[in-house]
Amino acid sequence: MQKAEVENIDKTKEQLLDELETLRQRITVLEVLETELENSNELFRMLFFSSPIGMYIVQDGYFQIVGHQFARIVGYDEDELMGKPSLTLVFPEDRNAVRENAVKMLKGESSSGYECRIITKGAVIKWVMETVAPVSYQGRRATLGNLMDITERKQAEETLKRMVGEIGHSNVELEQFAYVVSHDLQEPLRMVSSYTQLLARRYHDKLDTAANDFINYAVDGAERMRVLLNDMLAYSRLGTQKKPFKPTNYGDVFNQAMTNLKIAIEESGALVTHDYLPTLIADEGQLVQLFQNLIGNAIKFCNQESPRIHVSAETKSGVWVFSVRDNGIGIDPQHAQRIFEIFKRLHTREEYSGTGMGLAICRKIVERHGGHIWVHPQPGEGSTFYFTIPVTGGKSP
Ligand code: ADP
Repeated sequence: MQKAEVENIDKTKEQLLDELETLRQRITVLEVLETELENSNELFRMLFFSSPIGMYIVQDGYFQIVGHQFARIVGYDEDELMGKPSLTLVFPEDRNAVRENAVKMLKGESSSGYECRIITKGAVIKWVMETVAPVSYQGRRATLGNLMDITERKQAEETLKRMVGEIGHSNVELEQFAYVVSHDLQEPLRMVSSYTQLLARRYHDKLDTAANDFINYAVDGAERMRVLLNDMLAYSRLGTQKKPFKPTNYGDVFNQAMTNLKIAIEESGALVTHDYLPTLIADEGQLVQLFQNLIGNAIKFCNQESPRIHVSAETKSGVWVFSVRDNGIGIDPQHAQRIFEIFKRLHTREEYSGTGMGLAICRKIVERHGGHIWVHPQPGEGSTFYFTIPVTGGKSP
């Protein structure tokens, strides 16, 4: 053999070895890819078929792949679903919304999920939460859907809504009942009251001491009942005779309350001061009542020579916090919650006059304006009543 021929054979051998090496490398890469593909297929199968979320792929409106959980939710066998039009499972009234959502998804608008009803094979209507995303299946556009059965949650929500409605309804009925009772009882009470007062005046000298005492008890009882009914009427009017909310200057509200409390302030020598007070959307008449009740209590529950009362307001994370601070008798912390209940009093009539409705009225007014009311009790050092009103003002009902 010629030298040149030997060299050629060597070159060809080298080339063949190189190509063999390249092939070997490619095979290794392919093997790795195959393992990865198997792994991801396994993962896909696991996700699709064992996921607690119902998954499916729909192409051209027909089911192509369905997961076990999806089949379980809709009550069909997986085979029965293959090739079935997906929309037939959707409750007729919800089909348009589902279609619109699919169009949005195809336009590339992101879907945060939607709720709709489906009809199962056993004709049971279920609520589901569904999210859809575009995917490519066998080289063509398709939809990957995830579905969760939320029937129990929906039923619980419905029950809650119904109960809230019923409670609201019976609250309205109760309010109307309280209003009618307190309003209609005033007339016969006026009669009892005026005739017992007439008895007291006309027969004062003509009867014995015991009879005079009895008449005085009756007059006193009728008067107390009048005050009670008036307070009950004021309380029920908060719910039945509401005024629309409008911008209200709390400084003006304070001044109006002070005018209404003029006599009590003069008699007690109270000094009532205030800081800057804002303007917020509110029911002005009710706010005057609120300030009047709180400042009135601060004057009443005071054993000092002269009551010192200070009203202030500051904004804190979206709400105005108002405070009414006094130097009065203070409140035992264990009663701090209960004093806002209807007719709840901590003292006898002989100690301090009142019906126990004042703070219940305050609470109702504050809550109607979207806020809370509470007291910071300091027995022996006075009390500070706080209430909040959202910065945006109350929500007009
Ligand atoms: P009333 O003033 O008619 O008793 P309220 O509902 O206004 O009813 O108040 C309930 C109770 O809370 C009062 O009886 C009193 O014991 C207590 N209270 C209210 N305001 C104060 C206050 N500023 N200082 C001390 N105790 C108070």
